[in-house]
Amino acid sequence: MTDFSMELNDDQTTLQEWVHGFAQNVIRPAAHEWDEREETPWPIIQEAANIGIYSLDFFANAVTDKTGLSIMLTLEELAWGDAGICMAIMGTTLGVAAIMANGTPAQQMEWIPQCFGTPDDIKIAAFGVSEPDAGSDVSSLRTRAVYDEKSDEWVLNGTKTWISNGGIANVHVIVASVDPELGSRGQASFIVPDGTKGIRMGQKFRKMGIRASHTAEVIMDNCRVPGNCLLGGKEKLDEKLARVREGKKSSSQAAMATFEASRPAVGAQALGIARAAYEYSLDYAKERQQFGRAIIENQAIAFKLADMKTRIDASRLLVWRAAWMAAQRKPFLNGEGSMSKLYAGETAVRVTEEAIQIMGGYGYIRDHPVERWHRDSKIYTIFEGTSEIQRLIIARAISGVHIR
Ligand SMILES: Cc1cc2nc3c(=O)[nH]c(=O)nc-3n(C[C@H](O)[C@H](O)[C@H](O)COP(=O)(O)OP(=O)(O)OC[C@H]3O[C@@H](n4cnc5c(N)ncnc54)[C@H](O)[C@@H]3O)c2cc1C
Repeated sequence: MTDFSMELNDDQTTLQEWVHGFAQNVIRPAAHEWDEREETPWPIIQEAANIGIYSLDFFANAVTDKTGLSIMLTLEELAWGDAGICMAIMGTTLGVAAIMANGTPAQQMEWIPQCFGTPDDIKIAAFGVSEPDAGSDVSSLRTRAVYDEKSDEWVLNGTKTWISNGGIANVHVIVASVDPELGSRGQASFIVPDGTKGIRMGQKFRKMGIRASHTAEVIMDNCRVPGNCLLGGKEKLDEKLARVREGKKSSSQAAMATFEASRPAVGAQALGIARAAYEYSLDYAKERQQFGRAIIENQAIAFKLADMKTRIDASRLLVWRAAWMAAQRKPFLNGEGSMSKLYAGETAVRVTEEAIQIMGGYGYIRDHPVERWHRDSKIYTIFEGTSEIQRLIIARAISGVHIR
């Protein structure tokens, strides 16, 4: 019989405890301040870099873990500390995932280290797909990339919106249309290196939640990047475009490849928020006395907590399964990546709302973190594919029907 175990091994437990310690001692105490300031928490990113959580090495070890759990354990703990700060620390990995999904080995070697920098000189990255008129419908991107043969440069023009780390990143990975008639199959990803002229931050958005994570427009106005900044290279792109024009199937869609890989990781963050709210409200329910007894002695409250814990554990199983499948290079034939993000995201919203209900008026005021956790949770049913889009992906995968 082959061994099967649901227990974490010693290395995984050590990792989980280490990141939890950072979340508990560094992130949580700072969470309220950075939520109010609505700014990138550079000192916290610096501390994460000093101890190695924010580093190329950490990321490289995590992505080569064949169980797929290292990143999930890390993200659950960081988001347990605070989701906005977690996004500020880990937002870079979306750009990195895009380079990994679409770049040649040489491009990965060149650019991924530049996304992290070093503890002495921290760098961050951003991944820009969404546009004012192209959110869920990524096939309708208007940002154009035109090749200038004379100078061997790509010229980017367009506006990206709601980009995490947008305009402040050292490395931007931008998805642009090379041939608009081909929709998402006519798109490619481009590196915009630090200091490139013609790229700038537009509006910085003020948000409901994850306010320590910077979100802004990125505007490109005749932004020229060297030819080798096209991820995957021109030859591969030309071949792909030729295949698509002949009506043949093309395997890669630049933005989708990145999102598929990152969905369980988004689910893991949602899980961290949900767990934080569950633990906090469980403790509160045992302490709070009304009618001469602890409120948890009422089934109405205890059953809420039972449902919260059940949904959290179910979310974790979905997240870990999808992460394991991705690490084992098993295809998501039933939309398993989407299932994990969908269920964990909706669980975070439900659980944080119930946590407020359990705490009554105390849950609604800023003296306690649960109102913040509820605000933070909502983005997890929106970004990297809304809940509706995740259901669409799952429904199409299980049915084989092009459901709209
Ligand atoms: C804080 C934040 C950070 C973000 N970070 C990034 C980032 O780093 N990079 C990036 O590229 N983008 C980022 N985004 C953008 C995010 O991915 C989009 O907001 C998201 O994809 C949804 O697009 P939209 O907002 O245009 O909504 P829309 O696509 O306009 O959708 C509006 C509503 O219609 C529904 N809907 C749309 N189409 C369908 C359909 N076919 N069937 C059923 N329902 C449908 C949606 O589910 C949703 O409920 C971020 C957004 C936010 C708010």
